[in-house]
Amino acid sequence: METQGPLKIYFLPFFAQGHQIPMIQLARLVASRGQHITIVTTSANAQLFQKTIDDDIASGHHIRLHLLKFPSTQLGLPEGVENLVSATNNITAGKIHMAAHFIQPQVEAVLKDSPPDVFIPDIIFTWTKDLSKRLQVPRLVFNPISIFDVCMIQAIKAHPEAFLSDSVPYQIPGLPHPLSLPVKPSPGFAVLTESLLEGEEDSHGVIVNSFAELDAEYTQYYENLTGRKVWHVGPSSLMVEQIVKKPAIVSEIRNECLTWLDSKEQDSVLYICFGSLVLLSDKQLYELAKGLDASGHSFIWVVHRKKKEGQEEEEEEEEEEKWLPEGFEEKIEREKRGMLIKGWAPQPLILNHPAVGGFLTHCGWNAVVEAISAGVPMVTMPGFSDQYYNEKLITEVHRFGVEVGAAEWSISPYEGKKTVLSGERIEKAVKRLMDKGNEGDKIRKKAKEMQDKAWRAVQEGGSSHNNLTALIDHLKALFPVST
Ligand code: UDP
Repeated sequence: METQGPLKIYFLPFFAQGHQIPMIQLARLVASRGQHITIVTTSANAQLFQKTIDDDIASGHHIRLHLLKFPSTQLGLPEGVENLVSATNNITAGKIHMAAHFIQPQVEAVLKDSPPDVFIPDIIFTWTKDLSKRLQVPRLVFNPISIFDVCMIQAIKAHPEAFLSDSVPYQIPGLPHPLSLPVKPSPGFAVLTESLLEGEEDSHGVIVNSFAELDAEYTQYYENLTGRKVWHVGPSSLMVEQIVKKPAIVSEIRNECLTWLDSKEQDSVLYICFGSLVLLSDKQLYELAKGLDASGHSFIWVVHRKKKEGQEEEEEEEEEEKWLPEGFEEKIEREKRGMLIKGWAPQPLILNHPAVGGFLTHCGWNAVVEAISAGVPMVTMPGFSDQYYNEKLITEVHRFGVEVGAAEWSISPYEGKKTVLSGERIEKAVKRLMDKGNEGDKIRKKAKEMQDKAWRAVQEGGSSHNNLTALIDHLKALFPVST
C-alpha cells in the first residue's frame, strides 16, 4: 500500500566533503521522484552545496534546509570552520567529529517538532540509532564507504590470525576473492569502524554510492552476514545527471584546467588528487613531483597544502621552494606538460575530459566511483583508513588500476607517514598505466568495461535506477495511511 502524498524525508549529512557530496546527490535524486526533502545541516556546510540545489528548487523540487547552530564556541573553533575540509590537523578534525555528537539535542528537537516519515542520517551519527527508536521514526543510514570495505573490515575482524605472521602481504581469508593486504590495519581503526557499523543496526537498510555490478558478491556476503539490506543508488553523480538532468555539482571554479586539457591528446594526461582531506608530507610531495617529472607524461596535479596556523602568505611562498624540486614549476610550464591546482579542483569535470587517461588517487570511495563513471583507470596510493581496502577492489578484484605500493597504514589524513614512497616507485607505477603498451591498454579496457556497466546501471531499467524506485516504494510501504 502507498501513501497518497509525498514522503517527508530528513537527510542529515556529516560535515565532510566525501560524505556530504554523495548524500546531497542522493537527496536530490529522491526529491526528483516527488518526495519532500529537508536537509538538516549547519550554515557553513549549507554554503558548500547551496548553489547545487538552487536550480532543482527553482524547477519545483521540494528541497529545503533546516539549519542547526554549529557548536563553534563550545568546541573552541573559529566561526565558519564547520567541515573537515577546513581542518589541517587531528585536533581540529577531532572537534568537528565532536560536533557530530553535540548537535544531537538540536536534531532531536527538529525531529520532535515536525516528525519526518523517514530519517536518513550519515552512518557517523551513531546516536541516531537510539534517537530514532525512541521517537519511532524509521531510519535508513547512508554509508559513504563501499560495501566491499565493510566486508574487508568484517573479514579482518573474524580472522585476527591473518596478521600474526611477519611475512607480508597478509592474506585475508573468508572473502569471495583471495585478497591480501600489504600493511597491517591499526587496532584503532577496527574500534572506530565497529562502533560505526553498530550504528547501522535497527535501520531499514544501508544506502551506498555504488552500483550492484561493482561489488555484487560482496553485497551478498554482507547481506548474509548482517541480514541488512543494501541499497546501491549510484554512481550518484551519474544518476543526478541522467535522472535529475542537471549537473551533479555546480561550482564557480574557473575551469582554466579544462581549456589546458583541450590542447592534449586523448588519454594522455594523468590527473592527481588526494581528495579533500589527505595532506602529504613535504618529503612525499617532493618525491611525487620527481616521479611525475621522470615519467615523462603530462599531468594535472591538485595540491592541497593548507596553511599552518599563524603562517603568513609570504612564508608559505618561501616554503614552497622546499617541497618542490628546484625549477619544477617553471620546467613543467615551459614544456607545457603539467599544471598544478593549488585549491579545490572540479574533479568530476576533469575526470570526464577525454584527454584524461589516468588518475593517481588516494582511493577515497567517491574518487573511485567518479573514476569508474568516467572510465578512467587508476594508479593507487591510499591515504588512510578504508582507502587501503578500496585499493584492493581496484587492483586485485577488478584490475582497472595499478598500485604504487602502500608501505604503512595510517588512520589520520593529516600526519605524514614515516615511510616515503620514492619518486622511482611512483614513476614506475605511472608508466605501467600511461605508457602505450600491453599492460596499460588492458587496464584501460577494463576501466571502460566497468564504466559501461555503471552507465547501464543508471539508465531506465538499470540496477541503480530500479533500486531508487524500489527504495522509495519500500519507504512508502512503511506508511499504509496517508500522512
Ligand atoms: N573533490 C573535488 N575537488 C578536490 C578534491 C575533492 O571535487 O579538489 C571531491 C571529489 O570529487 C569527491 C570528494 O571531493 O567527490 C572527496 O571524496 P573522496 O571519498 O574521494 O575522498 P575524501 O575527501 O573523503 O578523502
